[in-house]
Amino acid sequence: MIWTERKKNIIARCGAAGAAARSARRRAAGFAAVFLILSAAGCTPAAAPFQAADTAMGTVIRQKIYGTQDVTPEVLSVIKDLEQRLLSKREPDSQAGRINEAAGKEEILPEEAFYGMLERIWEVSDASGGALDVTVGPVVEVWNIDGCATGTAEFALPSEVQIAKALSLTGYEKVRLENGRVWLPEGMSLDLGAVGKGIACDAVAEHLSAASHVEGAVISIGGSILTYGQKPDGSPFIIGIQNPRPENGTGNYIGSLTLEGGWFVSTSGDYERYVTEDGKRYHHIINPLTGYPAESGLISVTVLSRSGFLSDALSTACFVLGKEEAFDLAKRYEAYIFTVDEEGKTDWSKGMERYLTP
Ligand code: AMP
Ligand code: MG
Repeated sequence: MIWTERKKNIIARCGAAGAAARSARRRAAGFAAVFLILSAAGCTPAAAPFQAADTAMGTVIRQKIYGTQDVTPEVLSVIKDLEQRLLSKREPDSQAGRINEAAGKEEILPEEAFYGMLERIWEVSDASGGALDVTVGPVVEVWNIDGCATGTAEFALPSEVQIAKALSLTGYEKVRLENGRVWLPEGMSLDLGAVGKGIACDAVAEHLSAASHVEGAVISIGGSILTYGQKPDGSPFIIGIQNPRPENGTGNYIGSLTLEGGWFVSTSGDYERYVTEDGKRYHHIINPLTGYPAESGLISVTVLSRSGFLSDALSTACFVLGKEEAFDLAKRYEAYIFTVDEEGKTDWSKGMERYLTP
């Protein structure tokens, strides 16, 4: 994680480095969400924002908040509370934890807000033909890319039998969501990793709008970012899009977005958590139809939306779908999309050009 300050420009690079490589042929990269904030040339520098960098939801939270009072601790509490109360599969008392615990045993009546989230997730799963599937957890565990990327496990290529067995325990359509109640078949589980950070961005934006002493903010939760309100000098928020292959000498950023407050940006990429084995990259985003890391031709997908949930859900789904279907899906949700393919070619959807500097 690096913070550099040069003249009027403040460049914030946010991310958590993964563990070092275990061997030359096996390399794991940490996840890295990046945002970059530049003062517009010729403007008076903005009053210094309150800043904080913390860890929650298994990732790095970076805050820059402009206002008269430091609400960064409050914002962190909002995120941690959401994680512990609703989203974490590891917390036995969270809503997701309770549902996982009851799999194959009993039906659960979750909090209304949580049930509403599941309905919205299921809707995107349907719309993406199952590319987004939050029941993919057993497959994620078989690959254990997170464990390898953080150095707590050795990578071992799973066998086809292992993958088939794990796949048999997935499938969002097997979960019963009815009358506010959730039934999960035995052996299945919810893993909200693909949507949780975006959901947290929505909760933070809602919290900020109720805090009268906050003028503007830019906050990143891993690969999901929100902009809120305005900076005191009226200059826009500038969000850098990470270059998925900076090692090719092409720079840390592949583009940037110039935004006013009220936007949400999420990026899903094969560079966030991965392992290289015999020259092949195995990353953390699974194609739920095959049980293997998605190979759609895209290596990075950034989605710009007015909803944090949608930006996060769609970036994962679009990564799995590949360019053509990804553009259709983003359009259906009135979101803008920016993609990088395996040749390094960038593409963006109509309307994105208003915000994007490639
Ligand atoms: P993201 O970084 O938002 O694209 O989310 C990736 C995380 O979501 C992974 O680390 C897994 O925990 C989980 N995941 C992987 N593939 C999928 C998928 N196809 N649908 C839903 N969740 C997934
Ligand atoms: Mg996502």
